[in-house]
Amino acid sequence: MTVQSDVNIGLVGHVDHGKTTLTKALSGVWTDTHSEETKRGISIRLGYADIEFRKCPKCDEPLCYTTKKTCEHCGSETELLRQVSFVDAPGHETLMATMLSGAAIMDGAVLVIAANEKCPQPQTKEHLMALDVIGVKDVVVVQNKIDIVPKKRAIESYKEIQEFVKGTCAENAPIIPVSAQQGANMDILIEAMGEVIKTPEHDIEKPARMYVARSFDINKPGSPPKKLRGGVIGGSLIQGKLKVGDTIEIRPGINIGEGKHSKWINLKSEIVGLEVGGQHVEEVGPGGLIGVATKLDPSLTKADTLSGSVAGKEGSLPDVLHNFNMKANLLDRVVGTKEEREVSPIKLHEPLMINCGTTTTIGVVDEVSGDDFHVNLKLPVCADSGDRLALSRRVGARWRLIGFGIIQ
Ligand code: GDP
Ligand code: MG
Repeated sequence: MTVQSDVNIGLVGHVDHGKTTLTKALSGVWTDTHSEETKRGISIRLGYADIEFRKCPKCDEPLCYTTKKTCEHCGSETELLRQVSFVDAPGHETLMATMLSGAAIMDGAVLVIAANEKCPQPQTKEHLMALDVIGVKDVVVVQNKIDIVPKKRAIESYKEIQEFVKGTCAENAPIIPVSAQQGANMDILIEAMGEVIKTPEHDIEKPARMYVARSFDINKPGSPPKKLRGGVIGGSLIQGKLKVGDTIEIRPGINIGEGKHSKWINLKSEIVGLEVGGQHVEEVGPGGLIGVATKLDPSLTKADTLSGSVAGKEGSLPDVLHNFNMKANLLDRVVGTKEEREVSPIKLHEPLMINCGTTTTIGVVDEVSGDDFHVNLKLPVCADSGDRLALSRRVGARWRLIGFGIIQ
């Protein structure tokens, strides 16, 4: 049986509404593990967890749905329905870039909304808009923290959510009341995710293309050189396959040198190990989150240095672009703040935050013609024409999502 997930489900929503707690309730994994995250009590980077959706063969729906191997109701051994990777996005307003790079690898999403706060909170709205902009269509809404609100407020909050999703990509999404902390209604949520979030069609015959979302140095500090293990990259294959022993290229790779002598060099290495769902495998295809162990110097992969790059077989990746033409499509209103305002047109010389796949870069507009813009990028991207971009503008002290672009 395959151990690789077939789908990535994102957890999105306003800070503190319970995304990480819900991931924990379903997977047993607490995804805020980085020391800074634990200290500040918020997710800063993308968290991941692999989860099995299972079904008890004896119990009725929805009681039969679980993530556990043994049924809590009758003690029977449960059957595997689907292996799923969860991507836990940070909900803090300063971390939209991380949320947007996570959204690039989400096939569907769970929007978590806490019942004890008025809906919508700024990032509830901004994250839903981001799903729309990036094209994540399969959404389940979770109404969380129902354990701490009286019945009257639970109903009121439910109505606020229904009103809020009207006219958005979550318009027809089921709204599931839960308590992530108490693990209540997880069975109904698993059933809804199973029905709504479909397995995307991937082309395994195409050349491999992996969006790198994380990169690591997995060695313990002070490991002797003989025991040092090569750098590891984590992310999702959007097409094609990778095997142990393949040589991969990583673009744009890393920046070396200073100032005007600096340049980008791509990296090449052999795959020495592949990991999915905590298990070692010889070959991986699209779907779920994968870990790729390489022979790269681990100092090149530490602390997410390579997140945003694209990996694939040598010679098959798109070009590295330092500038491009794009067609832009702007939203009507800037969301994400308490006071919303209209989105004004993109101006000449305006810097934009551009998210392309898992890359975050800044592009400065140097030519404008109607909806067509030419932009020069601060950090290059490895991308093709036709690729979709999320565009954000500086409003006050923060980047705010203003629409999407398509590379021409
Ligand atoms: P995130 O920022 O969306 O990842 O939110 P967290 O999962 O870190 O949760 C924020 C706070 O809300 C934590 O103190 C959780 O214990 C609490 N919390 C999360 N879910 C529930 C719930 O269902 N009920 C209650 N009472 N508290 C919850
Ligand atoms: Mg969190």
